[in-house]
Amino acid sequence: MQFASVPIEFPCPSCGFYNTITFQEARLGAPIICRGCKNTLQTDDASGELAVAHQRIQRAFADLRETLKSMGS
Ligand SMILES: [Zn+2]
Repeated sequence: MQFASVPIEFPCPSCGFYNTITFQEARLGAPIICRGCKNTLQTDDASGELAVAHQRIQRAFADLRETLKSMGS
């Protein structure tokens, strides 16, 4: 499964604007410029938001695999 290009909506802690970044950008911890308030956001997962997003993505793919399995049988 390829997670790198999976988009994640990342809420700005300052203004609440949802910035869309890719999972790869999030994983690399690259700083993101908020498109709402122009502050630099660190995606180092201090808030745990990205870990939660990662778990959601993994669960979604697991569900998809189960669905495909049941369709194939
Ligand atoms: Zn902002």
